[in-house]
Amino acid sequence: MTDALHILKVALDVPLDRVFDYATIEPNTQIGQYVIVPFGPRKMIGVVVGISNTTLIESKKLKSIIRCDPEVIFDEQSFKLFQFCSQYYHYPLGQTIMSAVPSRLKKLNTKGMVKKYLYRLTPKVFALGIDALPPRQMLLKRIVMALIDATQLDEASLRSISSTWKKSIETLDEMGWIEKEEAKLDDKVFLQAPIPALNLDQKKALDAILARNKEFIPWLLYGITGSGKTEVYIRLIEEVLKKDYAQVLVLVPEINLTPQLESRFRSRFEKYKLITLHSHLTDNERLLNWRLAKEGKAQIVIGTRLSIFTPMPQLSLIIIDEEHDASFKQQEGLRYHARDVAVFRAKSKNIPIVLGTATPSLETWFNTTKIKAPKKFGFIKLTSRAVKDSTLPEIKCIDISKSTFTKGFSPYLIEAIRDRLNKKQQSLIFINRRGFAPVLLCSACQWTGKCTRCSSRLVVHLNQKRLRCHHCGYDEKIPQQCPTCGNADLYPTGQGTQRVEETLKEFFPEARILRVDRDSTRTKEALNDLFLKMKDREIDILIGTQMLSKGHDFPYLSLVGVLDTDQALYSSDFRASERLFSQLMQVSGRAGRANIKGEVYIQTAFPHHPLFEALKTHNYEHFANELLKERELAELSPFTFLVLLKAEAHQLTSVMQFLNDAMQKAQDLSHHVTVYNPVRPIMERLKGMERAQLVIQASSRIALQKLLDDWVPYLRENKLGQKVKWIVDVDPFDF
Ligand code: ADP
Ligand code: ZN
Ligand code: ZN
Repeated sequence: MTDALHILKVALDVPLDRVFDYATIEPNTQIGQYVIVPFGPRKMIGVVVGISNTTLIESKKLKSIIRCDPEVIFDEQSFKLFQFCSQYYHYPLGQTIMSAVPSRLKKLNTKGMVKKYLYRLTPKVFALGIDALPPRQMLLKRIVMALIDATQLDEASLRSISSTWKKSIETLDEMGWIEKEEAKLDDKVFLQAPIPALNLDQKKALDAILARNKEFIPWLLYGITGSGKTEVYIRLIEEVLKKDYAQVLVLVPEINLTPQLESRFRSRFEKYKLITLHSHLTDNERLLNWRLAKEGKAQIVIGTRLSIFTPMPQLSLIIIDEEHDASFKQQEGLRYHARDVAVFRAKSKNIPIVLGTATPSLETWFNTTKIKAPKKFGFIKLTSRAVKDSTLPEIKCIDISKSTFTKGFSPYLIEAIRDRLNKKQQSLIFINRRGFAPVLLCSACQWTGKCTRCSSRLVVHLNQKRLRCHHCGYDEKIPQQCPTCGNADLYPTGQGTQRVEETLKEFFPEARILRVDRDSTRTKEALNDLFLKMKDREIDILIGTQMLSKGHDFPYLSLVGVLDTDQALYSSDFRASERLFSQLMQVSGRAGRANIKGEVYIQTAFPHHPLFEALKTHNYEHFANELLKERELAELSPFTFLVLLKAEAHQLTSVMQFLNDAMQKAQDLSHHVTVYNPVRPIMERLKGMERAQLVIQASSRIALQKLLDDWVPYLRENKLGQKVKWIVDVDPFDF
């Protein structure tokens, strides 16, 4: 090995818990740069995590990097975070790091990344005058003239002047005649909302957090929808940004990052650079924004789950809105919980973190209120709605066993909708999405359409006249007659949003009905459009599952009807009722504003269930405390900690052999955890794979982590695991 060689330790996206050595002759390579390296027959993107001048690899086998990009993409803070995630979630460090690299950088074939710029003339031009341009450079002159006219031009406009505009711009740049600014992605005009004076609760909240804004404290900011939490975030951010070098990260659930929320923030932070990071952006836009954050140029970052990994050198405050939201848990690859990672990040930076919600997760509630142990979280409560005269909606349960129903609707609900139509007010019909897609049923033999590759029923899509598997995408025509008995009377059961829509159309042919589901609100524009239509009263009845976004008031919405939630009351998923409560609380919050009283009708067979009793009195605290008691008795989270090992293969025997061996090993390794027998999940088969899983439970997080430290490497080495696809999920959400 020659002296001039440097050995780079490179993290790669491969399922091996180690880094790889590569040689480079470039002396100035830094940790955090990204590189392209040969890996077997392929080229791969990697991140430099260490630099050394020795390696255990023989020099003839040592490979060199192909290319090193000058950009340092991660700082020391970031590596701390990756280290933590890799250790805590028992996921290889390389893959952990690579999950945080913006996807645009992971695309090998496209060289570099073109930033979008706006170009302007510098004052120098006006001082010297256009005659100072070199003679016979007509194109330069044309561009300068165009810039004088338009003040600033983007690349598309420059291209329309000449296809060789770039060269001219470079010349002008060298002359110091132009300045460029990265183009804002969003140049909309924002509504200027009046800035309210804080009420007493809000003031107390702000003061409490500001009094200790230089230290790590997780604050629970607890208050119903409309109690003014967002206003508190805004004031807090204003104060924190008064410092010269400060950045703030605001995490929101994907569905809540609406144009309205964004523009509310933008209108209040005009003098700061605010960027968003979420899946509606293109990879290029995302990278551009990510870089602004990483370089400390963006003071405010609003983003979804993944943005918790954005390097922010001057991070001084983290806010998590709707901290209870399940979408903060990543369900693939690195299965992190963005809230938990955020708390770790705040702790390691010694900065405050604010968790805002109307319905705290039981974990957070426990950490904030538990009486026995020292409280880990600061607690702030906003007690009422911030806007004067706005009242909470009245919540009523309709007992479905006591009245006659027409196609899933009780006459009370129908009358209530009719009443709103007469008053020119709006109604929202909410369907709890999970498990309520309609399936096709034969009235004679009870046949239902099943997916051949999954243990799931096919869902009826009436508009396309298709049956579709929602798990694997399998799709077929709706049969004319029953495949088993030949009966032609096949009908859809269950309340899908489409069926609800058809039923309501029959009841109210004159009403303007809009059905929204995840697909129809996928883009920002579609969502925005929907809210404008609601605001302009172009919709009478809205049917939906999960479009309850933050930052949207529907001023004319006064009725919410809730269908089919009962299965969540008695679900096998222990978090189902916690989720249902927060969902219903959130939909209820849609009904009734300043001067229109809201009503919520819930159709249920269990009108006296404690969940509904708590909802009627808007008493989350009582409900949460009761749930905590149940969880303690059942030894569930937050009283115990869980790990899930999921496995799948074509042959069930391979899965079971692997899991039984894993169970045995876990039992041998630790006596401080409970290892359960392998079981089949509800979805036994998925995409042609047989599935099973096992759960390990522990009352001590440390004991559990200690076990995992030995167990996961064992699983990785295990020969039985070679025929099986398996994953380990720490603090799992879905079973
Ligand atoms: P949350 O985030 O808790 O849902 P917001 O901060 O969005 O609550 O406040 C709800 C509404 O009340 C918004 O329209 C907001 O402008 C208004 N608001 C907030 N604080 C006040 C206040 N102190 N006085 C009057 N209106 C307020
Ligand atoms: Zn049949
Ligand atoms: Zn399927």
